[in-house]
Amino acid sequence: MTKPAKLPSPDDFAHVRDWVFDLDNTLYPHHINLFAQIDTNMTAFVAELLQVDPVEAKVLQKRYYHEHGTTLAGLMLHHKVDPNAFLERAHAIDYSALLPDEALGAAIKRLPGRKFIFTNGTVAHAQDAARALGILDHFDDIFDIVAADYVPKPAGSTYDKFASLNRIDTKKAAMFEDLPRNLEVPKALGMKTVLLVPRNLETALLETWERVEHIDGDSVDFITDDLSGFLGHVLGDQA
Ligand SMILES: [Mg+2]
Repeated sequence: MTKPAKLPSPDDFAHVRDWVFDLDNTLYPHHINLFAQIDTNMTAFVAELLQVDPVEAKVLQKRYYHEHGTTLAGLMLHHKVDPNAFLERAHAIDYSALLPDEALGAAIKRLPGRKFIFTNGTVAHAQDAARALGILDHFDDIFDIVAADYVPKPAGSTYDKFASLNRIDTKKAAMFEDLPRNLEVPKALGMKTVLLVPRNLETALLETWERVEHIDGDSVDFITDDLSGFLGHVLGDQA
């Protein structure tokens, strides 16, 4: 197993024509914790749907997440839930914690080639978040859970669908993600992979149930806690 590098040189990304970004905890930092609001909404949805208390709803929600990749996939399979109703409720959140990130917008704009958001959330959620960050206009397209037929990353079929729809040559593409498991398929497809980690990784490891998985150096080329700074190195701003 190789250890992921921290800083890239422009040469590492010189062949890249398509830049693919996950949304949550990637285009904005983990500590913003927008997902806490989505999580609470999902729990409330499950509690109302199944007429159980929030504690029981939470247990079921996390079980479906682990067994089916998303809470929604489990709800659709076991309870015939209407995905749109669930997704609308889940993403009915307050985006005011997201502030315009001018440095990030400028860096993304300067990347040579096309830029995509590839999210297990919805287009509406990605648009709302990217608009709040002031970076929405820099993206060519957004591929969401609806476009993926509700089959979330890390399913290989979903990456294939994304790549073929957008005619992406994965050997000339880069993927930015905060979940290591979502970089395994991209790495196998020949993409450059960049893992976003929280600023205080050790604390986050203790606090976040999602991050119990270890970081697999085989599928991660680079690791960073600062997306703008990282892109600055890719663009050759820093020697
Ligand atoms: Mg994410």
